[in-house]
Amino acid sequence: MMEITFLGTGTSHGVPPLDCVMEGYRKCPKGVCRKALTDPRHNRTRTSVLLRKGGKTLIADVSADFRQQAIRHGINKIDAIVLSHGHIDHFGGLPDIRSYTEKRQLSAYASSETIDTVTQAFPYMFEAREGHGKGIPRIRMVELCGAANIAGFKVTPVPVTHGNLRECLGLRIDNTGYVPDVKYMSAESEKLLMGLDCLILNCLRNKREHRTHMILSQSIRLARRLAPKRCYFIHMTHDIDYTADSEKLDSWMEFSYDGLVIKV
Ligand SMILES: [Zn+2]
Ligand SMILES: [Zn+2]
Ligand SMILES: [Zn+2]
Repeated sequence: MMEITFLGTGTSHGVPPLDCVMEGYRKCPKGVCRKALTDPRHNRTRTSVLLRKGGKTLIADVSADFRQQAIRHGINKIDAIVLSHGHIDHFGGLPDIRSYTEKRQLSAYASSETIDTVTQAFPYMFEAREGHGKGIPRIRMVELCGAANIAGFKVTPVPVTHGNLRECLGLRIDNTGYVPDVKYMSAESEKLLMGLDCLILNCLRNKREHRTHMILSQSIRLARRLAPKRCYFIHMTHDIDYTADSEKLDSWMEFSYDGLVIKV
């Protein structure tokens, strides 16, 4: 049994995006951002999930909102980190991991492209120095090039196409798939995501085609092909209304929301 906490379910801008705030919500397409002020299902911090099993805790992506998420859920322990790709909304919270690395170093698994991006973004974390001070997280980046046992979870990288990245990954973690950012997926990658108990899949917005992300109709089509037992959509903009748009989904699909906890 694995417990999954949706720490953040929003796209890179979060919901409400600052653009909507700056315009007094006047141009918000469906009024979702106003709803977000009082309805937590529409208040979406940047995408990340926390997985717990047998006393071990794995965090998939460390979003720019990690600190808030850790406070909200009282996260007191992390055993390992895995990163899907090198976009800042997925690793921007790494500096705040320092509180979890005082006693021991944490390993963060990612593709080699992502490792390059992370080490260039935060050089101070990875430069050799005499004794680490309290302010610097002790993170060891480890290349994830095939299925690996990470803190007791079986993690398989699933290559996906997302913008011009060469090594963006979806992740199969035990029997759960986590694919936060994707536009296309090869037949081989689809095979790696067959027979899932739970699929967590990118769904950016309703209709307007996007260059680097799947929109609702595409996400639904892919989910139907992969046919997991359950599917939760993630990485959503303010164009997804949790209640109204839920009518478009099959009975085994749902929009995720911040704070949702499921057992698989
Ligand atoms: Zn993203
Ligand atoms: Zn809005
Ligand atoms: Zn991305």
